[in-house]
Amino acid sequence: MIGRLAILGVGLIGGSLALALRRAHHVGEVVGAGRREDNLRRAVELGVVDRYSLDPAEAVAGADVVVLAVPLGAMEALCRRIAPVLGPATILTDVGSAKGAVVQAVRAAFGRLPEGFVPGHPIAGTEQSGVEAAFADLFYHRRVILTPLAETGLRALGEVREMWEATGAIVEEMAVDHHDHVLAATSHLPHMLAFALVDSLARLEDKHEVFRYAAGGFRDFTRIASSDPVMWRDICLANREALLEMMGRFRGDLDRLAEAVDSGDGDTLLEIFRRAKAARDAFAG
Ligand code: NAP
Repeated sequence: MIGRLAILGVGLIGGSLALALRRAHHVGEVVGAGRREDNLRRAVELGVVDRYSLDPAEAVAGADVVVLAVPLGAMEALCRRIAPVLGPATILTDVGSAKGAVVQAVRAAFGRLPEGFVPGHPIAGTEQSGVEAAFADLFYHRRVILTPLAETGLRALGEVREMWEATGAIVEEMAVDHHDHVLAATSHLPHMLAFALVDSLARLEDKHEVFRYAAGGFRDFTRIASSDPVMWRDICLANREALLEMMGRFRGDLDRLAEAVDSGDGDTLLEIFRRAKAARDAFAG
């Protein structure tokens, strides 16, 4: 049970976490912080937070657990604002989609890695953003990856694990680098493909016709291109190396596909499609 929880960035992820913890009676009071007062007022109306402050330092006062739930590019500035006032026993965690960059931001802001800091990443989300999009079931039966550091204390790690388990999530632990490589492949690269495909088609001269005749497959494949551009800009910049490696590999595979199409090599096409179908069927099953 968390006495007082501070959510810095009351959007889809921060808001959903608050709702899930309230439903599980795992939290006493929830304090929100952000830049836009209308969003925070709405968060109170929706029962996501009990109260809010536009000043993150004020929001974390007396908090047992502080969750950083802002875009990756905003993490360091936010940490600099709370570092001078964060209590020594306060647990600090985050939900950022790339972990190396958050660890760097916390180290830069605090001048060290606090014992109470537990980096985390819920592998759950939608293409919506803002507190209106938050819902209590978002993390139910979804994975949450924690990437504890050598400095991370066992008490902090245990409490953050219990917090996520109270939302119904399945918690796993992983090294920071490993997380960033895995996520570059499974989440960041697919988002690049969706954004690039939609942008490419949207810039065709006859784009109206393209979108008029696009059907279910196009909708399925491109849903994630409706995700928040700022969040995705930050993820690309934060996980640059691992993402570039995956994009390079994919570019090579796409070139091989183009060569097979160009040379009329049906056997190669069939081999690739059969391999992909088997992998996708196994994943979906
Ligand atoms: P979101 O719905 O846009 O919420 C982010 C919140 O942060 C907003 O309510 C915003 O409130 C606040 N914020 C934005 N920029 C800020 C800044 N510069 N300084 C202070 N506060 C700022 O985004 P989200 O989807 O919840 O994503 C939050 C974090 O979760 C990101 O780090 C993302 O990588 C991670 N994540 C996202 C997903 C996903 O699928 N969406 C999944 C897993 C992890 P104000 O505008 O009022 O400041």
